[in-house]
Amino acid sequence: MTTILRTWELTKEYQGKEVVSGVNMNIKQGEIYGFLGPNGAGKTTVMKMITNLVKPTEGFIEFFGVSMTDHSYELLKRMGCIIENPVFYDKLTARENLQLHGEYMGYYNVKAMEEALELVKLKDVDKKPVKQFSLGMKQRLGIARALMTKPELLILDEPINGLDPMGIKEMREVFRMLSREYGMTLLISSHLLGEVEQVADTIGVIFEGILLEEVAMDRIRSRNTPYI
Ligand code: ATP
Repeated sequence: MTTILRTWELTKEYQGKEVVSGVNMNIKQGEIYGFLGPNGAGKTTVMKMITNLVKPTEGFIEFFGVSMTDHSYELLKRMGCIIENPVFYDKLTARENLQLHGEYMGYYNVKAMEEALELVKLKDVDKKPVKQFSLGMKQRLGIARALMTKPELLILDEPINGLDPMGIKEMREVFRMLSREYGMTLLISSHLLGEVEQVADTIGVIFEGILLEEVAMDRIRSRNTPYI
């Protein structure tokens, strides 16, 4: 599989303290990459650097073989991300929220919106106000919003966090659909291997800002000892 996103010695310092240290990640086209680490390990910071929300102190990122530093605008159009919990207008319906966002951002297209709602299994409830949505439904609506630009890489920061078992199951189905049927590449962070092991192809483990391991999920499955 082709590597579409590569980070080279990605490093971030805040107030002289290194919170991400020399991270070299390789994300391959069409895979689900589970990015694991405990609180404060540096997952969000890495994701923010990949999406250009935060500037690396050192190192750089290549997306489709092109440096993000030089061509970030063109490359960012090919990424979708949800780094913090998505925020919606509670009294507006799911459709209205997506339409409003799409029009505001200048990419509204009714067909793309309907496909996105279908994909995240919210088509049946798209005329309900968002205040009636569960956390899992809001997370999926956030994914639908990100999907409207048809990104090739979707970056999701702890999308499973706080969901009930049904919400987790539905979210996993959405991940599988995006990856297996639409060939989308997903980078998903989580605290626990158990949250992503059923869907991930590759696992990257970060601890105290250092990427300890990047390994195919099949290799983890063949180990006898529990991992995390
Ligand atoms: P969590 O699972 O809790 O979200 P994380 O793995 O995503 O954790 P980060 O949010 O990337 O971790 O934080 C890594 C470290 O960087 C933490 O020690 C955090 O306090 C610190 N940090 C993050 N953002 C800033 C900032 N803007 N200024 C100073 N320190 C920061």
